[in-house]
Amino acid sequence: MGYVLDKEGLNRTLDALSEDFLLYAPVRKVGEGRFTDVDVVRYDFVRSVDDIELDAKSDYSFKEILTPLSQTLFYFTEDEVHEAGGLGAPGSPAGTADDRPVIVFLRACDLHAVRRLDQMYLGNGPTDTFYARIRDRVRFALLGCDHAFASCFCLDMGTNVAPEGWLFSLDRAGEGFACSVADDALAPAFAANAQGEKDVTPAHVTENEVHVRVPSKVPNSIYKDPLWDEYDSRCIECGRCCIVCPTCTCFTMQDVFYTDNGRVGERRRVQASCMIDGYTDVAGGASYRKKAGERMRFKVLHKVWDFRQRFGYDMCVGCGRCDDVCPEYISFAAIVNKLTDACECEEAKDE
Ligand code: SF4
Ligand code: SF4
Repeated sequence: MGYVLDKEGLNRTLDALSEDFLLYAPVRKVGEGRFTDVDVVRYDFVRSVDDIELDAKSDYSFKEILTPLSQTLFYFTEDEVHEAGGLGAPGSPAGTADDRPVIVFLRACDLHAVRRLDQMYLGNGPTDTFYARIRDRVRFALLGCDHAFASCFCLDMGTNVAPEGWLFSLDRAGEGFACSVADDALAPAFAANAQGEKDVTPAHVTENEVHVRVPSKVPNSIYKDPLWDEYDSRCIECGRCCIVCPTCTCFTMQDVFYTDNGRVGERRRVQASCMIDGYTDVAGGASYRKKAGERMRFKVLHKVWDFRQRFGYDMCVGCGRCDDVCPEYISFAAIVNKLTDACECEEAKDE
């Protein structure tokens, strides 16, 4: 069922939903960007449509709700270890004692990214119970995309149309809003505040400026190909591209000690990046992938080859956030195209 609402009607609907759900959406943080007088758009809890940034792509993805930057897994004392958990524990969606489920407002590509996160944490060996506990409390609302942003390449990654799994959609419609409600239980909240009913199809992108060709075959020779070498000097290994990425899942562990004797504290899972120096350090002082170019190779092949070999579809959803955030203007989309060119060149040599 679809509904047309003015701003006041939509806010009354969101108010009604807030009795049962926390609402988590992209928010413009004025003046909190990387440079002076620059804004940043990142996720936060909202109460009204005035709080939601509907017109810009979020610089950071929704994923912090599912994989918090820092999540306590265990508490330890001298003799005992207790698993962190329970609703309202640190690392729960709200990071507070509030145990309401959360509705996350996101775009089509990001809803596809949820499938990738679920794959990694729930379908890649034993279930990650810490992820599952949060995931069970999270639902989704779809933000329609009536145009692509400059760096998006969702069409080529097949993520421009949302998969099923959203409760309702939200699009601008003239001065007001149009919502398609897929969950019957929520329909009364919309019906009570709507100006009228009509068929609503969430807007989706049909054109991108950026185009990417993913490789259909990657020969082993690509691992030593000189195409990676330029990133030894260009990439400063800051890891920003991974932190904003909705599908990156690298983490590390940190033990925090409460006392000087070091016997009481907690173990935390902390977001990390395979691009950052030290991520591949191992016992004995060794380190895999020491050069930035080697790290780039690992990341890029994971996104558009290795993940597909294991699960049958690509990890990257083409949101373009990594290209937007890189301080060295390194384009992930351009690297994928270079990779595919190099793979095809190698294939042609073998024929
Ligand atoms: S690799 Fe870049 S374009 Fe692909 S999902 Fe991650 S941030 Fe988005
Ligand atoms: S590609 Fe760019 S954002 Fe990513 S680690 Fe290198 S310099 Fe940082």
